[in-house]
Amino acid sequence: MSKPNCKLLEGCKFFSNELEHMPAFADKIKEQICLGDFSECARLAVVNILGDRKYVPNDLFPNQISKVKFIVAEIVKREEP
Ligand code: SF4
Repeated sequence: MSKPNCKLLEGCKFFSNELEHMPAFADKIKEQICLGDFSECARLAVVNILGDRKYVPNDLFPNQISKVKFIVAEIVKREEP
């Protein structure tokens, strides 16, 4: 049985090198997270929590999971009525 892929692989700006500042070690991150344990991905976590890709900051790298709680808190605060 083949390994499942990240549900956001298609159209992911990080995976398709569309971020303004791609890290030098992007290929390593893709191998480890995108094509490996994507449950650890910060970009995927933001989408899973907030429900839409539009909330993922453009400069967020998959290996920055520790930033997710701050990003989510800021967006929730911003979107409060
Ligand atoms: S960066 Fe994250 S969301 Fe994008 S393809 Fe890789 S694992 Fe999925």
